[in-house]
Amino acid sequence: MEQEAIPLWSHNRGESDPIVFGGGPVLTANPEPLAPFLDVILLGDGEHLLPTFIDTIQLTKHLQRIDRLKKLAQVPGLYVPELYIPQYSHSGTLESITPIEASIPNSIAKQTWQGNSLSYSTVITPDAAWPNIHMVETVRSCPELCRFCLASYLTLPFRSPSLEDALIPAVEKGINVTKRIGLLGASVTQHPQFSDFLKWINQDRFSDVRLSISSVRASTVNYEMTKILSQHDCRSLTIAIESGSERIRNFVNKKLTEEEIFLAARYAIDGGLKSLKLYGMVGLPLENDEDVEATADLLLRIKKQTTGLRLTLGVSTFVPKAHTPFQWYGVRPEASQRLKILSKRLKSKGICVRPESYRWSLIQALISRSDRRLAPVIALMKGTKSSVGNWKQAYNTIRNNNNSHLKDQKFQIPIPPPWEEVIHENWDLSKVLPWKHLEGPLKPELLIEHHKKSLN
Ligand code: SF4
Repeated sequence: MEQEAIPLWSHNRGESDPIVFGGGPVLTANPEPLAPFLDVILLGDGEHLLPTFIDTIQLTKHLQRIDRLKKLAQVPGLYVPELYIPQYSHSGTLESITPIEASIPNSIAKQTWQGNSLSYSTVITPDAAWPNIHMVETVRSCPELCRFCLASYLTLPFRSPSLEDALIPAVEKGINVTKRIGLLGASVTQHPQFSDFLKWINQDRFSDVRLSISSVRASTVNYEMTKILSQHDCRSLTIAIESGSERIRNFVNKKLTEEEIFLAARYAIDGGLKSLKLYGMVGLPLENDEDVEATADLLLRIKKQTTGLRLTLGVSTFVPKAHTPFQWYGVRPEASQRLKILSKRLKSKGICVRPESYRWSLIQALISRSDRRLAPVIALMKGTKSSVGNWKQAYNTIRNNNNSHLKDQKFQIPIPPPWEEVIHENWDLSKVLPWKHLEGPLKPELLIEHHKKSLN
């Protein structure tokens, strides 16, 4: 295959090889596990980064590869992993990540788009993951700062394009080719002009437009909203409650009362929607079995008070994410049992429970919290079936130093830390994090402050 001609490891690429680059939220949060495969990583918003990246690529065409990479590293938001060296202690603790020479910046700051526009679909096709739907990004980030939330913390500040100049023109573009509009964003209904948008879409000429919206904040739901949504063939509303326990909601900074949750469910049914999906989480730090029982109790009470509304609980395991105040917490093994408790208590009462796989949450955490020492594991997974068992096996193989497949490398990557340490351990606040050299929207001191605040 032609792609095999490009060496997998960036260190092995030469003058005739292309510059391999990547970007997006996963790489912006923690690019380190994939860093040895990429020449350049774009940290932050594409609107901002892509034009400068492309210009610099053009302007440096004549340079030798290494000089070109060094020039790219001078552009804000462009991270060239090869120019940064991690140092480890004898016991394998990450001690520092420093540039190879003084001319390379010590840290790279994520770039934030502040213009009055967000993105929308440019290709609409029946073969897309969401077929024939025109997706419009309505807001970016979320001002709520739930302490586990990557969608909020990594993308701050909260941005909402103006209704007349950006949102309506973006939706109109799609209406010309499809009758299905999807509004995207971490907290769509928090757009300050969302009720005006609903009034606009509720005109007779758009009566055949079908609206879908991503998860909304329960406290923003009202009767007018659910009625207009249902008139536009939206059948279901999704709200994230995280936990039925008020203690846990306070701990994670989910500013949501039980009354608001009940009201959202009431508005859903009164407005004519058919179902309500609630998102929850188990395995949150400090959570105990009673908190999980409280989630089940809450769902059962909602069910009782909203007969006729189909209830679904989507529930995942807490996974720590870089650049959030909960990045230091590990995955709790109790989560596995707690997912089962919820299924057991709710399924028999007619509530649909959709638990995410606990075992896959472990792989999420592995990718979320690892450093470059995970790269040989990822390389070993190449060509094998992506199952949790195979991931574990690959990790053990590399841990046991059986890395003969890396012999062609110009450099050796030390073996990764124990599985338990990366996935389950609560890390000390003073630990050098794998993404230490990458600046998120908030300074590490502020994340520590938010972390400590949760414990008060
Ligand atoms: S309300 Fe939702 S999107 Fe906003 S910070 Fe909380 S979990 Fe994240």
